[in-house]
Amino acid sequence: MNNWRYCRPTRKRKPRQEDMDLMRQFLERTGIKVVSEEEAEEADVVVCNTSDMWTPFRDNVSTVCAECGKGIYHRPHAPRKPRKICLNCAAEMSEREARERNSKN
Ligand SMILES: [Zn+2]
Repeated sequence: MNNWRYCRPTRKRKPRQEDMDLMRQFLERTGIKVVSEEEAEEADVVVCNTSDMWTPFRDNVSTVCAECGKGIYHRPHAPRKPRKICLNCAAEMSEREARERNSKN
């Protein structure tokens, strides 16, 4: 799974600093690319915020992580095709893939 995208919502208000820090650390650690919602349609997996994370929007769509079933949300026009998974599962999966890559080399 090389084609991971984090679907970044367009924010009008500033999010909580702790959520931004968490997100930045996560994206740096996993190498997931931040793209627009249109580009994310081509992704294999869309990484979503868990439902306890801050959001400026009231019209988010609530759903559950395709891996662990935890509550997540995304924007109404987020891509329909890719599986939607939470940040925690994305981190676990990308770390597992990195380990597998390293063990082959
Ligand atoms: Zn999950």
